[in-house]
Amino acid sequence: MAFLRGREALPVDPREPVPLLRPAAGRRPGRARLVVVRLLVVEDEERLARALRRGLQAEGFAVDVAADGATGLDLALHGEYDAMILDVMLPRLSGYRVVQALRAERNWLPVLMLSAKDGEYDQADGLDCGADDYLTKPFSYVVLLARLRALLRRGAPERPSVLAVGSLTLDPASRRVARAGTEVSLTVREYALLEYLMRRPGEVVSKTELLDHVWDASFETAPNAVEVYVGYLRRKLGKDLLETVRGAGYRLTAP
Ligand code: CA
Repeated sequence: MAFLRGREALPVDPREPVPLLRPAAGRRPGRARLVVVRLLVVEDEERLARALRRGLQAEGFAVDVAADGATGLDLALHGEYDAMILDVMLPRLSGYRVVQALRAERNWLPVLMLSAKDGEYDQADGLDCGADDYLTKPFSYVVLLARLRALLRRGAPERPSVLAVGSLTLDPASRRVARAGTEVSLTVREYALLEYLMRRPGEVVSKTELLDHVWDASFETAPNAVEVYVGYLRRKLGKDLLETVRGAGYRLTAP
């Protein structure tokens, strides 16, 4: 699929009904301007994507659809949307990665995640990575609409962008990491591993989960990759940073 730049690249449906209007968040409140409520749907199952587009357009929303994660991320970063409906299992870039990338860019677009009910991923995963709400497939369209409206009412409040665990801080926007105020330089992989663990402070995170989220499935990964990188992090940030929970995984404590 072509890499789309902005919504202009998407075909315009002339049958699109009159869109839902909301007051524009402009700088001049005296001059109220009405704008369309725009939704981005990222879903690779064609039938579901078509049904969502049709249903949401019938409700008065303007809807753009992307069929893979990379295109969805690009649209979300460069288009002006009020909310995104995002599938988890997507070609090119998973829904989790899309939300993580958005939040790392300090983009707080409200995200409603969809996933299959096979239990491979759970609700906690979706919310941990920065999604605002979560629905398991198959879902009721009425419930989807209700959740979406709630999300739109809440809007996109800015969240604390710097992660802090004990004396350790990590700023996803600038990708800066510091321990007790001293900046530490990390490689891309070390950074990704630390960021993942910092989003789950105090929890035991399994090696399998770390391999799934921090290492790309397309790369041959050595079975001891996690141990090796945990070792690098301990060397750079302090031995007390990461606790090994034998047979279970790792826990970030960062006293
Ligand atoms: Ca899918």
